[in-house]
Amino acid sequence: MKYYSTRSANINLEATEAILKGISEDGGLFVPESIPKLPIPIEEFVGKDYRDTAFLVMKQFFTDMTDEELRACVDAAYDAKFDTPEIAPIKEADGDDYLELFHGKTIAFKDMALSILPHLMTTSAKKHGLNNEIVILTATSGDTGKAALAGFADVPGTRIIVFYPKNGVSKIQELQMVTEAGKNTYVVGITGNFDDAQTGVKKMFTDKELGERLAKAGFQFSSANSINIGRLIPQVAYYVYGYAKMRQQGIIAAGEEINVVVPTGNFGNILAASYAKKMGLPVKKLICASNQNKVLFDFFTTGTYDKNRPFYLSASPSMDILISSNLERLIYAVAGSPEKTKELMEKLSKEGSYSISKEMQEGLGDFYAGYATEEDTFSRIRSLYESCSYVIDPHTAVASHVCKQYKTETGDKTKCLIASTASPYKFPKSVIKAIKAEDAEQDDFALTKLLSSLSGVKIPEAVANLENAKILHDTVCETEEMQRIVEEHLKK
Ligand SMILES: *Cc1c(COP(=O)(O)O)cnc(C)c1O
Repeated sequence: MKYYSTRSANINLEATEAILKGISEDGGLFVPESIPKLPIPIEEFVGKDYRDTAFLVMKQFFTDMTDEELRACVDAAYDAKFDTPEIAPIKEADGDDYLELFHGKTIAFKDMALSILPHLMTTSAKKHGLNNEIVILTATSGDTGKAALAGFADVPGTRIIVFYPKNGVSKIQELQMVTEAGKNTYVVGITGNFDDAQTGVKKMFTDKELGERLAKAGFQFSSANSINIGRLIPQVAYYVYGYAKMRQQGIIAAGEEINVVVPTGNFGNILAASYAKKMGLPVKKLICASNQNKVLFDFFTTGTYDKNRPFYLSASPSMDILISSNLERLIYAVAGSPEKTKELMEKLSKEGSYSISKEMQEGLGDFYAGYATEEDTFSRIRSLYESCSYVIDPHTAVASHVCKQYKTETGDKTKCLIASTASPYKFPKSVIKAIKAEDAEQDDFALTKLLSSLSGVKIPEAVANLENAKILHDTVCETEEMQRIVEEHLKK
């Protein structure tokens, strides 16, 4: 299986090379030459544990790794770091199934991929006799940052630098990052927003001169953002696993189709779901749920992607994104050529918008898009709590709202699997504001205790430990200073 750049036909690499590079030097993203089929019938996944499922799915994509290498990565990733042996359990509430992807170290779904990425990277580096230290540069809207820090902390041969929008993440999210103790970690707040952070990071990746200078000093950049196929592909596995769980629990019959609903920001998670569908998973609709930054909703309904609009800070900060990087892979799939993709992406970069043709739009029929306002989000948290005593986080609530909206609008009775992307404990203020507004003014730690008594779910260690953790990172810079900060840090 070769990996091509979305922007030129003459770059192609093995999976392990694409994992190491993160992003193609022409600014494109790596895509597999084709989406492989599941290696065994879906019914045979029923009853398999998470590791076996993940191994079988990833093996189809990472074909230049040996079984032993991949198995070692999977086993090192999906272990007791997760607080349940199921890794990704399913909870039924109000007729929908929530695939809880937040049982890892940092209680957000990013852990699912970021627990394995460092192992995929170091295995790839070994395979290619690479001696340079791998420097992970990451822009985060909140959850990627901590999950990447936790994944790479003290992994030999790696360093990680995380940029986050200083005023664009929750208190708990920020604390999780700035208290990170790994010796190879560096966390920096920027005065801009997530898109600024992401653009700054992308610029450094594609700066050839910078790359050469760093190579001389013994470093090589790589990315832990969801543009890395080493992050994208592991996410395909949990959709297969989730489907098999629904079968195992008798929620659906053999071969029955489901809809998958995903709260979407950078378009990585839902793209993984679309790969699962292409592999043969019985999925009918891929439901793309946006918050009030509904650039994707507008794109799917009009065919025009336009980031020239107000940017809102919402209660679902990990979805506060106007440039959904992974959409480029879908554009590539429907554009049919890297030249066309390149043209559209350059238009996006220069003018902030592009429109796709009618024919391309027809290629998007697997998707349905909806969005939730802030009010919709809060009211969904409250209504689900009141009807089922099930507490969801604001991101998951966006998906849950859009799921309801979809069913009302279409009358479709297909069972829905909702990607539950964060624990409510990561956003206690918003969650309490939704279900018990009169108490929402207390500090975050008092709120987590209240949340525990309301939901009956134990406070996860990831939050309990924060209260007394020491702040170890306090650098803040302007967007323009990001590169200087990186170069200075690497001199130390
Ligand atoms: C990152 C994140 C999302 C968005 O996922 P994408 O893959 O970027 O679309 C949604 N919810 C939570 C909690 C997240 O951390």
